[in-house]
Amino acid sequence: VTIDPGHGGIDPGCGEPDALEKDLVLPISTKLAQLLEQAGVIVVMTRTTDESVSLDDRAIMAKNAASDLFVSIHCNSYEGEARGMDCYYHKNDSAKLLAQSILDRAGALGIVTRQIQKNNYQVLWDTDMPAVLVETGFLTDPADRAALLDPAHQDKVARAIADAVL
Ligand code: ZN
Repeated sequence: VTIDPGHGGIDPGCGEPDALEKDLVLPISTKLAQLLEQAGVIVVMTRTTDESVSLDDRAIMAKNAASDLFVSIHCNSYEGEARGMDCYYHKNDSAKLLAQSILDRAGALGIVTRQIQKNNYQVLWDTDMPAVLVETGFLTDPADRAALLDPAHQDKVARAIADAVL
């Protein structure tokens, strides 16, 4: 499984200096990697530090690793009222099934969820294997933002995604 912590390095993603997307998706991704490795899954991370990685390289890493799944981790933002965890897929039924399963598991753990959506993100069409992009919550929403900064909530998000992948 390739885990793709979004953004990094010169690309902070969304959020504010005290809650940047690139800084929040990394611990969630690292926890997810640990949970999957504990279950015997071979994991590849597209980044493990605050470094810049191109979208092309993220797909290439997954391809070179011959991964069976690609899971990209992000945080969302919106100029208005929106909160909750989203999951996007593009390619096929396997990805759609995984996207729905992630939100189902998250909901079962008490995480506010939205609906899965088909979307044309590069990491979703540029990867060879079933791929999903998880928007773990809205950094523009005070409640989501506080939750995403909380290590216990980060654990819960990682657990939901790990359960769905497994
Ligand atoms: Zn993002």
